[in-house]
Amino acid sequence: MQRLVLFDLDNTLIDRNGAIHDWAVQFAARHSLADDATTQLVELVQERAFPVTFETVRAQYRLQPSAKTLWRQYCSNIAAAVRCPERVLAGLDVLRATGWRVGVATNGATDIQNAKLQATGLIDRIDGVCVSESVGARKPAPAVFEAAAVACGSLLSQGGWTVGDNPETDIDGGRRAGLRTIWIPNGRAWPNRLAAPDHCVPDAETAIALLLASD
Ligand SMILES: [Mg+2]
Repeated sequence: MQRLVLFDLDNTLIDRNGAIHDWAVQFAARHSLADDATTQLVELVQERAFPVTFETVRAQYRLQPSAKTLWRQYCSNIAAAVRCPERVLAGLDVLRATGWRVGVATNGATDIQNAKLQATGLIDRIDGVCVSESVGARKPAPAVFEAAAVACGSLLSQGGWTVGDNPETDIDGGRRAGLRTIWIPNGRAWPNRLAAPDHCVPDAETAIALLLASD
């Protein structure tokens, strides 16, 4: 099997949940919103955040700035808040130095996902990326994994690995795309209706160690 690994981005390489929570607290304070707004804001952007999400936010809280402005602020605030642990960045360097091709396959809007890759330094540590919006499909669709592999100069037909936290989109999607799978539970139980992942590890650093030991 070729040495190719496609990582999910949010809550796999970076702590999106933590960044969203911090953003919601600051957003609520900046716009003088009621206490329960923080929880509501997290719920609004949790699953997916796109420019249209901020039409809803603007209407719900009767805010003055345009949805476009709110979206731009959200992108820059989240990009500034997310971090990729140093040991993960270093691990990606080791993978590439030992012949692995390293890609990111992520669901989301192109501008914010790219902003996060830039802000965390991940963009300099990977061979290629596919953001779902750019291919008009979302994981679990194989097209997203395929485009990420191609961006790395590889083809899925030669196999590889994927690492992610979402059982449906990352692990079941990756398995259907012909990849071996490493799941990061982030405190969740595996849904038994799905075929089990090949491996289960606590974090991206451990996933990298497993990949390095796998061949
Ligand atoms: Mg994720």
